[in-house]
Amino acid sequence: MEKADLLFIHGYVLTMAGEGVGFINDGAVAVAGDSIAAVGDSGELLKRFAADRVIDASGKVLMPGLIDAHIHTGDCLIRGVSQDIRNWMQHGMWPFEQVLRPDTDALMKGSMLNILEAVKAGTTTFCDFYAPMNELVKNHVKIGTRARIAQTVNEMPKVNRTKVGELYEFDPAEGKRKMEETLRLFRDWHGRENGRITCMLGPQGADMCSREMLEEIRQLAEELDTSIHMHVAQGDREIDQMIKRYGKRTIEFLDEIGYLNERLIAVHLTEATEEETKYLASKGAGMVLCSGSIGIIDGIVPPAAAFLEVSSRLALGSDQAPGNNCNNMFNEMKFTAILNKCKAKDPTVFPAWKVLRMATAESAKAIGLGDQIGTLEAGKKADLIMVDMRQPALSPVILSPIRNIVPNLVYSARGNEVEMSVIDGRIVMENFKVLTVDEASVVREAQEAADRIAEQAADLFKGMEDTPLMQMMAAGKL
Ligand SMILES: [Zn+2]
Repeated sequence: MEKADLLFIHGYVLTMAGEGVGFINDGAVAVAGDSIAAVGDSGELLKRFAADRVIDASGKVLMPGLIDAHIHTGDCLIRGVSQDIRNWMQHGMWPFEQVLRPDTDALMKGSMLNILEAVKAGTTTFCDFYAPMNELVKNHVKIGTRARIAQTVNEMPKVNRTKVGELYEFDPAEGKRKMEETLRLFRDWHGRENGRITCMLGPQGADMCSREMLEEIRQLAEELDTSIHMHVAQGDREIDQMIKRYGKRTIEFLDEIGYLNERLIAVHLTEATEEETKYLASKGAGMVLCSGSIGIIDGIVPPAAAFLEVSSRLALGSDQAPGNNCNNMFNEMKFTAILNKCKAKDPTVFPAWKVLRMATAESAKAIGLGDQIGTLEAGKKADLIMVDMRQPALSPVILSPIRNIVPNLVYSARGNEVEMSVIDGRIVMENFKVLTVDEASVVREAQEAADRIAEQAADLFKGMEDTPLMQMMAAGKL
């Protein structure tokens, strides 16, 4: 008999391998070390493996852990302070950010809360994009998540004195300092924790770095053989800056400097036209769609449907708590399906099975980890979740003549039905409880840090009484 550490049996297995969802009834998954040893029929695997631990997955789904392809965990403490307004940055986020950003302790506490929230809703891999990533990465190490991280790099001066509509002035010394931090991140963390932590390059946006710096980053991506994770065409403000500086829109400019290829993970594309999106897709770049965040912040459904006409390298991301409010990939899948159906006025687009692939198999390819995660297949890393289909929102299960499991996972699950999470072969959550951190302490410490941030931000709100959120407060609407 072959040896396994964990053997899950009698589950509804969704391997996500091949083109569909790869359903196996009465399925089993064997885990040995950090990898999947076999996936198949329960009877067969029970004969083949002697496992240290056999886990009965009757009434439960076994599937790949969900991938959040774009998240800023450091922003979590200011969840929900800037909704339902137009200038969410200036009128809601800004005062809080002024006090949050320099407070590394608060960033860490918020980040841990955000990661905990996401793990409990089935996320196992995080493309975490923030500064100081050298610190935040320690939360991923501690809780045991897979993290593909990027340090935010830009050339914006510490104090930005540019008025709205004016061209930003760059500060090359700030840019140099941030590039050095990025190189340090690679040196210290790339490939660490049994390969669970990997690094990408993270220019914040084409409008926030000089052409020289963007070219340096492109060259570095080739030398380090990694991806470039970047906000692309993320707002009309960015397009305005690009036209003023270079006389062209973002995607045309990125093409000119050699960015449009498989290394690029283009986040948002909020302001990209369908033609630009298709062109970017045709060059092999991946796209991250943040449906909840862009829906709430901008009221826009990005051109993901156009992207899919050309490429399947489409991943989903939850972005940040102050915009999206939640970092829950079940929520993201549901939003993605519904918003795109409404945009197209067509219920056949963005079907549940396809959206589920965007949070697993296709996402893994888009973020450059397709050979390691995203499907349940022998040889891949053991990142999997067990979802309890006996919870009220996921019951009943119907297998024939029509199977309802996948539509119910996408349209009905809330995330709290995820019972168990295995990452890199290690059980991180069991019986709905995360084992690697004390959940109550994480929540309490984040609350304490948030109290401090809110108190400090109050001073900065003085004189902002005429802004929409302050008026909503005064009128008793918040
Ligand atoms: Zn973002």
